[in-house]
Amino acid sequence: MSDKKSDKSADNPVAKQTSMEDIVSLCKRRGFIYPGSDVYGGLSGTWDYGPLGVALKRNIMNLWWKTFVDDRDDMYGVDAAILMNQKVWQASGHVDTFTDPLVECSNCKSRFRADHLEGDKCPTCGKTGTFSEPRQFNMMFRTVVGPVKLDPEISFPNNTSAVIKDHNYTYNVDWSSEKPEVKANSNDEVALSTSYLRPETAQGIFTNFKNVVDSFYPDLPFGIAQQGKAFRNEISPRDFVFRSREFEQMEVEYFVSPDGWEKEFDKWVSDIYAFLQQLGLNKQKVHELEVPAEDRAHYSKRTIDFEYDFPHKRDELLGLAYRTDFDLKNIERESKKSMEYRPKDGSKAFVPHVIEPSFGVERAIIAVLDAAYTEDEVNGEKRNYLKLPAHLAPVKVAVSPLLKNKKELSDKAHEVYKMLKKEFGAVMWDDNGNVGKRYRRQDEIGTPYCVTIDFDTLEDDTVTLRDRDTTKQTRVKISELIQELK
Ligand code: ATP
Repeated sequence: MSDKKSDKSADNPVAKQTSMEDIVSLCKRRGFIYPGSDVYGGLSGTWDYGPLGVALKRNIMNLWWKTFVDDRDDMYGVDAAILMNQKVWQASGHVDTFTDPLVECSNCKSRFRADHLEGDKCPTCGKTGTFSEPRQFNMMFRTVVGPVKLDPEISFPNNTSAVIKDHNYTYNVDWSSEKPEVKANSNDEVALSTSYLRPETAQGIFTNFKNVVDSFYPDLPFGIAQQGKAFRNEISPRDFVFRSREFEQMEVEYFVSPDGWEKEFDKWVSDIYAFLQQLGLNKQKVHELEVPAEDRAHYSKRTIDFEYDFPHKRDELLGLAYRTDFDLKNIERESKKSMEYRPKDGSKAFVPHVIEPSFGVERAIIAVLDAAYTEDEVNGEKRNYLKLPAHLAPVKVAVSPLLKNKKELSDKAHEVYKMLKKEFGAVMWDDNGNVGKRYRRQDEIGTPYCVTIDFDTLEDDTVTLRDRDTTKQTRVKISELIQELK
C-alpha cells in the first residue's frame, strides 16, 4: 500500500442547504434519534436517543460543562430534583403566566399556537376564518405527588374504577377490591399534592442559591450551572426535536451586582459565541435578536435570542436574559427567608441580580448536525458525511480487519481495537461489508478516523489510518497510533 492515498478528491464539498428530511432520515437510519414510543405509534413531541445520539448529546453537554463550569473558577454546579414544591412555580409566576395563546379551528378541531400561525387559514383543513378567540394555555405538565386520597362524594361504578375531575384534569383511579380509606375534603389534598414537571431548570438553581452561598461563600459575580430535563406541554411540537415536549436544558444563573450587569451581559455574549464555535457552527448562520419589551418573558429586562439558520427556518437556538432580582426576590417574599448576599468587604448586603444564558440541547444538536452535514463526490460518486468536530463525534475511531474471515487479520485488529478502546473509549469495531462500504458508513456518522489492519500489518506492524474529511490514507506504526490520534 502506498504511503498517501485518497479514495476521492474530497477537497471540494458541494455547498448545499441541508434539509430537515436529510437530518431526520440520517438520525433514524444510523441510530442517533428515533421517534419516542415508536413501536406503539409514537407520542407526539417525544424522542428517544439511540447509541450514537446519546453519545453526541453527552459530548455536547460535557463540552458545555467543561467550558462553563470546570474551566472557570467562578462557577458551581448543581443537579436539583425535577419535581419541586408547587410554591416554586407559584412564586416564579409560571402557574399564572407560563402560557401560550391557543386557538381551535371550529371546522376540524385542530389546535394551534396563535402566534405561530400565518394568516387565518387553518393549516390542517384549509378553511379560513374558523379560528376561535385565543385563550391562554398553561404549558406546565401537572402531576400529583404521593398516594392521593379520594373524594367521598365520588361514585365508583361497580367498585372497579373511578374518574376524578379536578381543576379541569381527569385522574383515572384504579379501584380494585377494597374501598380505600377516604378522607373528607380530599380535593384539597389533590391541590396540595400538585406538582409540575419543571418547565425550566433555572428554578432549581434559584432555590439552591442560599445553599451554595452558605457552603462556598463565593465572591460576586459567580454562577450556578445546571443541566437536565425540562418539560413543556407545547401546543404543537414540531420541526423534529426543535420543539419537543420533553427536552434538555443547560442553564447558568450568573449572580451579579445590580450596577455592573451590562458589562457581565456583554461578556456572556462573547462567551456564547466562543462556545458556538466549539460546536462547529458557522458564525454567519447565528443571529442576535434583541427581543422587544412586549415579547420578553415576564421576568426579563433585556433578552437576546441567539437565532440560527435552522433547516426549517431562522429560529431560536438559545436565550440570554437579564432576569434582574425577580426570582430571588420572589423566593424571599414567598419563603420568608433572606436571599441577600453579604459582600466580604463588609459593605451593605443586597439581593444579587441575575444574567441567564439558557441553552437547549436538542436545538444545539440540530444546529451541530446541520453544520456538519456535508455532501461531496468520491471517485465520481456522491458521498454524505458528517464533518463533526472530533471532540463531538460519537465514535472517535473505527477499527476493521481488511477481510472479515481471515483469522490472523481479525486477531490483530482486535488487539489494536482493544488498545484504542482503552485509550479513547468511543471506538467502534466494524467488519461488515467491504472496506469501502465501512468507510462510507463511518463517514455518515462522522467518525474522524478509520484504522484498517491488512496483510502489511502482519509484516511491519503498521496500519492504514484514513481521514474522514480528506479521505487520505497513511501508514502509521501501531506503536505511534495513539499519539497520532490524540
Ligand atoms: P420558543 O420561543 O422557541 O418557544 P422560549 O423562548 O420559550 O422558546 P426559553 O424559555 O428561553 O425558550 O428556553 C431556553 C431554551 O430552551 C431555548 O432557547 C431552547 O433552546 C430550549 N427550548 C425551549 N423550549 C423548547 C422545546 N419545546 N423543545 C426544545 N428546546 C426547547
